Order: sequence, then structure tokens, then C-alpha cells
Amino acid sequence: MLIGIDPGHGGKDPGTVNKTLGLQEKTVTLQIAKKLDSLLKYNNVDTVMTRTADKFVSLKDRVKLLNDARVNYVLSIHINSFTTGKPRYISTHIVARGGKAEQLAKKIQQKLVAAVNWPDGGVRVSNFYMVRETRAPAVLVELGFISHLETAKQLQQTAIQRRLAVALAQGIAAQLGIPFTQPETTFTDIQGHWAEKEINWAVKQGLFKGVAEDRFAPDEPVTRAQLAVVLKRFYDKLQIKAGFAGHEGN
Ligand SMILES: [Zn+2]
Repeated sequence: MLIGIDPGHGGKDPGTVNKTLGLQEKTVTLQIAKKLDSLLKYNNVDTVMTRTADKFVSLKDRVKLLNDARVNYVLSIHINSFTTGKPRYISTHIVARGGKAEQLAKKIQQKLVAAVNWPDGGVRVSNFYMVRETRAPAVLVELGFISHLETAKQLQQTAIQRRLAVALAQGIAAQLGIPFTQPETTFTDIQGHWAEKEINWAVKQGLFKGVAEDRFAPDEPVTRAQLAVVLKRFYDKLQIKAGFAGHEGN
């Protein structure tokens, strides 16, 4: 199974913008798309992305890339906008009712609404280029409104972006009929690293921490002090495991 992930806009095309925050749609769509990409790969689902950087790619080129790759599904990621700051619903769009696209859309929409608790805009029929011109069943999500200040503030947060990405991945996994598991850690910079497994293990054991919620910095050097802390944690763990805990006073 091959999933086409299409992060909306990019480069000279910022998409919609929240001027108060200086937040651009193209930034959020790429951040969520990258998280989704890594979640799907973790679940052994292959992916193709129409862009992986802040780069302009025309709609025509996106469609060609996805069609040439013969993807099984297309997921296009966007954020809505309105002239007033009022609407804040989350919605999923397909080109027509019926078929696999609608099945996927329903699953995704349900997961999205449950994930962020924004008003349910439902599955809608829209004549968007990306869902109309791609050959595979295609779904376009509008992840809330960037014009809604509270929503825009949430969309900046890594935790919310991750929740949205998990919801999208869960919807896709459900459609593919495969189980979905989340990685032990939320680091986006260890994906595919030669020591990914060991890093996940060390973090899960509580021996090591990341430098940020989503960043482990796997290739940065460790200081002598940090090494001492890790060794102490490891030693304490061995003591507990060997049943020596609490014997120090004897
Ligand atoms: Zn858009």
C-alpha cells in the first residue's frame, strides 16, 4: 500500500494566513504532513510526499507525481480560512459520494473530530483540484480555520499537530484494515536513524531524554556531565533490578 501525502501550498504560495500570529498555512500543513509520514512509516505503510520542504510545487506537478507513483490513496492537507474569525469547524472533502474515498473520508473525519473536539463540519463534496485530478481515491482535509484565533494558536502547538497527524494515520490504518501503533517516543528526527531502535529503548527505559518534545538530536555529542547522569540512572536501575534497593542503610 502506498499513500500519497500532499501538504498544501509552499514556497511563494503561503496559503491562508493568520496575520495576528504571522502563521502561514503552508508551514502547518508541512509540519503535520511530516508527522503523518513518520507515523505511517512506523506502521509499515509506504508514503510519497508531494513536498518535504518549504518549496512551491504546482497543483499539476503534485497530481502528476502522485499518479506516476501509482499511489493507492491521496491525502491532501489544508487549513481553512474565512473573512470573519468565527467559523472553526473541521471538515473532510471528496469529489463525489460513494467508493473508497468516502469510506476513508468518514474514518478520517471521525478521528479528527474526536482528536481535537472542534465542531464537526462533516464529509463534504467539493470540486477541489487535488481530489478531482488524482487517479487514486482522494481526500482533502481542512484542519480547522486559521482565521479563528484560538484554532490558529492551537495549530502552532506540536502536541495538537501530533494529535491531528495521529488521527489522520488512524483513519488511514482503519481504511487499510491494519492495526495502528504509536511509537514510544515522539521524536521526529530519529526516523530512519541507524540507532532508532536503541534510542527508543533508552528513552523508554528512562535513561535518556530528548532535547525537546519532538527532538532527540541523535548526532549531537554528549558532555561528560550528561554521561555521568546517564550512567547513574543505569546503575540505579541495575540496583533495583537486582533487588538491592533500600539496602543502603544496612
Ligand atoms: Zn489550502
